[in-house]
Parts: sequence; C-alpha cells; structure tokens
Amino acid sequence: MTKSTKYDICIVGAGVAGSALASYLSNQGLTIAIIDQNWEEPDEIIGELLQPSGALKLREMGLADFSEGFDAQPIKGYGLYLNGDSFNIPYSDQKDNDKTGYGFRYGRFVQKLRSYLKDKDHIHLINGKVIDLIYDGAQLEGVIYQDKLSNQKKKLKATLTILSQGSSVRLTKDLTKAKIDTKGFMLGLILENCELPYPNHGHVIIAKPGPILAYPVTSNKIRVLIDFPKYYENPRGMEMKTYLREKIGPQIPEIMRKSFYEAVEKENYKTKPTCLLPAKPILIKGAILLGDSLNQRHPTTGGGMTVALTDVKALGDLIIKNSKKGFEKNLGIISREFYESRYKENATINILAYALYSVFRHPVLSKACFDYLQRGGKFALEPMSILSGLSRDRKLLIRHFFMVAWFAVKNMLKPKPTLSRIGDSIKIMRDAIAIIVPLLLHEKPAIYSTNK
Ligand SMILES: Cc1cc2nc3c(=O)[nH]c(=O)nc-3n(C[C@H](O)[C@H](O)[C@H](O)COP(=O)(O)OP(=O)(O)OC[C@H]3O[C@@H](n4cnc5c(N)ncnc54)[C@H](O)[C@@H]3O)c2cc1C
Repeated sequence: MTKSTKYDICIVGAGVAGSALASYLSNQGLTIAIIDQNWEEPDEIIGELLQPSGALKLREMGLADFSEGFDAQPIKGYGLYLNGDSFNIPYSDQKDNDKTGYGFRYGRFVQKLRSYLKDKDHIHLINGKVIDLIYDGAQLEGVIYQDKLSNQKKKLKATLTILSQGSSVRLTKDLTKAKIDTKGFMLGLILENCELPYPNHGHVIIAKPGPILAYPVTSNKIRVLIDFPKYYENPRGMEMKTYLREKIGPQIPEIMRKSFYEAVEKENYKTKPTCLLPAKPILIKGAILLGDSLNQRHPTTGGGMTVALTDVKALGDLIIKNSKKGFEKNLGIISREFYESRYKENATINILAYALYSVFRHPVLSKACFDYLQRGGKFALEPMSILSGLSRDRKLLIRHFFMVAWFAVKNMLKPKPTLSRIGDSIKIMRDAIAIIVPLLLHEKPAIYSTNK
C-alpha cells in the first residue's frame, strides 16, 4: 500500500451530492480529494427529474447554468392519469422561472456537475473504488481505495471524510443505526418518437401493480419507470417482456403506447431497487454521511436529488462558516448541526414519497387522491408545492393527507351511510393512519453517539 497524503476533506462518490458539494466548496481554500469509481458518463435510470426546489438549491450555490448544454428539458408540472382519465397540475399558477423543474439523463447531469471541478487548484479528482474506511479509535481518518490506473490499494487521509457513495450502504454500515428496507424495484425504459399527454410535464400513471412514471429526459427521449413492489403479482412466472407487453402496455396512455411497445421489443431495460433508508446517523468524529448513503425514499415523487442538494447546501454552509473559525476544531459542531437541522428541511419530501406511493397502490385512496387533486385550486397547488419541495410545511402535508382520506370516507358513505359502508370507512381511515404514522416516526430526529 502506498503512502497517503492528508487533505482537509475527502469526498467519496462524485455523483449528485459529492460533485455539487465539491463544487460549492471549491473556492474556500480547503484541499479536497474526490474519489469515484467511474468518471465516464454513467448510464443509469436514477435521478432524471429534478424538482424546482432542487434546481433552486443549485442556483443558490452559484451553479446557475447547471441545466445548460446537455439537452435538459424544463418541467412545468405534473400530469396524473387513472383509467383513461387525466388532468395536469402546474408547479405554479404564475409564470415563474424559479418554479421550473428539469428532466435530463442522469449521466449527462452528473458530468455537468463534475465539469465544475476541472482545473480547480485545491480539488484533486481520483479514479478509484473506495474499499474500506480507516479508523483511529473513535475517529475516521480516511479511506482505502483501489486505484484504477495503477490497480494498487492506496490510503487517503483527511480531516473530514464525506461519504456520498449513493445507495450502497456496505461501506457505511457502522455510521448509521438505520437498516435499509428494500421495497421492490423500478424498471426503466427509454421511449423514442413519443408524445406525452402533457408536454414538459412529469407524469404519474396510477396503475397495477404500482405507479408508472414518465417524463422527458432529452428533446426526443422519454424516460418511463415502472414500479414493481416486492411481492408483485406475476403468478404465471411470465417472462419480463411478455409481462410488460400484456400487463403494463394496456395501462400506458394511448398516445404513448406504440413507442412503449417498440421499447419493450428492444428489451433495453434496466432495473434498480427502491429502498427506504431513514436518517439515523451515528456521530463519529471526522465522518459525515450525505445523499443516498444517509437517507433514501421511494422515487415516485422524484425527491431524492432535492433532498441531497438541500443537504449539500446546508452542509456546505456549515463547513464554510466553521472553516473560518478553525475547521478541524469545529468538526463535531459541523456534523451535529448538520444532522440536527436537516430533518426540518427534508421531512415533507421523505414523508410524501412513501405516503403518495402507498396511496397510489391503495384501491380506494388512489381514486380519492385523483379526484381530490382534480378539484384544482389549493387542493392541487398546495400538495404540488410540497412535491416540488418549494413548501416544506409538514402541517400542510398532513392536512392534505387526511383531507384525501376524509374525501374517500365521504364518497364511501354515499348515497347514505349503512352499517357495511361505515365499516369500510373505518377501515380506510385505519389504512390511512397505518400509512402515515410510521413515516412520521421515521422523520423524528435520531442521532446516535459513537459506539466505537
Ligand atoms: C429508480 C430510481 C429513480 C430515481 N429517480 C429520481 C428522480 O427522478 N428524481 C430525483 O430527484 N431522485 C431520483 N432518484 C433518487 C436519486 O437518484 C438519488 O437520490 C441521488 O442520485 C442521490 O445522489 P448521491 O450523490 O447520494 O448518489 P449517486 O448520485 O448515486 O452518486 C454516487 C456516486 O458514488 C460513486 N461510488 C459508489 N460507490 C463507490 C465506491 N465504493 N468508491 C468510489 N465511488 C463510489 C458512484 O460511481 C456514483 O458516482 C431515483 C432513485 C431510484 C432508485
């Protein structure tokens, strides 16, 4: 193993969170090493719709041209589709550039973020796979990585190591009390020569066995993501191509169906697990978890990058503030303040992700939610402000959640309450509570002291 150099900061993973943070900190005079196992443009099905609030965070960090030069598509709102009926909700009822989201290929976006790191004096880009962490007693001192060029194992030491290596938590299991809960997977396809029911909109198709998402990722490509819950019904053990053609195809809006079948024929699809990882970090001096390695939620609401970028901005601000007063001395303050403050900002996005996913999979609540949002006005715009991340008001989210449940109950009791309808209504309320309560509990601050 070769001798190590010591940096102020080592960032593991140059994905959305790692690249954005390195770039935000690039002019602070801190020496930064950023390691990734793949610096080529990744071909992934994750992170392809950025909500308006995530876009705002990038602008606040000075990366105002983040969407330029790689055919990113503006997203103006969402279309919702159920059994052939559909409507759309704009992000905002005013023409407002600050309330625009973006659809793009994940790989192109990450390369754009990485382009901000080139030719920066204090930033060292390393091509390697981190295989272990180096501890000195209760303190994290750096990492061991397999260097891609020399194929040698190397040590890298840093005052602060930020672990933003994405959804794999193998490296970081000693830094969190949370257990990753895999809920199923998503299958992604690219549709070509395809129109969307609502151009420049994200789409949620309420379908079986789970929601289907669609949005533009370039000027001529549409990403479709199909949810497969853990125990999805595939009783005849159908081959995936047949399953997509026979079970999913008929649920796709007609305007997209031809392109969908063409994409299925090509069999060019990828899958990715969908996971729940609540943030339950363990405070260890010299270590901070960031992005998906700290916290994951269902992709239905496209909130992952917005949470990651909200955290990047908050952590970056704490590092900038404390580096002036002595970065090393204030390491403990940085990690504690970061972990404590992030709950308030991110809870609504995290809760909404699984709440909406569960509602869309519920036979009665899904229809009630569709009808409720279709009423428009504040019934649509306020929930939309939570989905976009522009409002982080937890009470507003809970109020709309229970108004949807109440809406379902009111419909259930029509034309007049009978004993069996009352029984069904109680069951719906119970289902709604069973959805929301565990999610609220996950979002209570839980920070643990070192157990090393
Ligand atoms: C199916 C699916 C669809 C999604 N769609 C959306 C969406 O539309 N909108 C949205 O906002 N969010 C979405 N997300 C979530 C979003 O992709 C993540 O929240 C976001 O990418 C997290 O950023 P990150 O930097 O933590 O991880 P990543 O962006 O995954 O980056 C991790 C980086 O670490 C590198 N790495 C990993 N291990 C190592 C190692 N050992 N050594 C060195 N480098 C390593 C990887 O090469 C990668 O570059 C989706 C997630 C899934 C599963």
